[in-house]
Formats: sequence, C-alpha cells, structure tokens
Amino acid sequence: MNQTVRVTRHVLTELVAEARLEPAFECCGLLAGRAGVITTVLSAQNALASPTAFDIEPAELFALFHRMRKLGLDHLGIYHSHPVGENAPSRRDIASAYYPEAVYFILSPLPGAAKPVRAFAIRDGSAQELEIEILEGS
Ligand SMILES: [Zn+2]
Repeated sequence: MNQTVRVTRHVLTELVAEARLEPAFECCGLLAGRAGVITTVLSAQNALASPTAFDIEPAELFALFHRMRKLGLDHLGIYHSHPVGENAPSRRDIASAYYPEAVYFILSPLPGAAKPVRAFAIRDGSAQELEIEILEGS
C-alpha cells in the first residue's frame, strides 16, 4: 500500500496554475504546512531557467526557509514541473533529492497529463510514488 501525503485543494490548484504559467521552463518552490498537511506554496525562481532542470539560489532558499519559520510552518515538500515528458522523477531529481523527509511533487503543465500533480518519496537513490489525499476547504 502506498503512503499518503495530505494537501489542501487550493495548494493543488495553485501548483497546476504555476506550472502552466511559464511552460517554457521548470517552475519550482517549497511546500509548507502544519501537522503534516501541506497548506502553503512558496514559489521560487528557477535559477537555471531550463526546461529540463531547476535550481534555487542559496540566498532565495534561505529567505524561503526564514519566511516559513516566521509563519510557524514546517517544511514538508519541494515541487518542480516537467514541461516536457512525464512528471516522474528524473535521474537528476533522484540524485539531487537532498531532503529525505520532504515529499517531492512533480507537476505537468500538459493538458493531456493523466495526473498533473504527482508526489514521491525519494530516499537512498530510489523514488516511491505517494497517494495524494486532498483536503477540501482551508
Ligand atoms: Zn525533475
């Protein structure tokens, strides 16, 4: 049985909208919340401006973590989009998954995507897809 990650409906809506806003390159950012429920999207600049890779500048990452702490939120996830191809972890995504406790969300801006938002646990060089439980309201 797959593990589950809990996300509010508006976070999913925001993620899909962001992935479609700039389909020429990967969007990226952090996800935060409380008590294991992701409630907040903290979007970042893709420093690489690439359609196949992303990176967040250390200064921006620091500022995002600072904002998260000020809001009293926990860091629960990281997201980015795959403008081309499947929204499953790439070899690079698996190699650069530095937060083993975070859930990795991968978005697809493609209108035909079966699942525009997918979530993965990436640990020790392997990825496992998680079920996304959507919480209405809030
Ligand atoms: Zn990727």
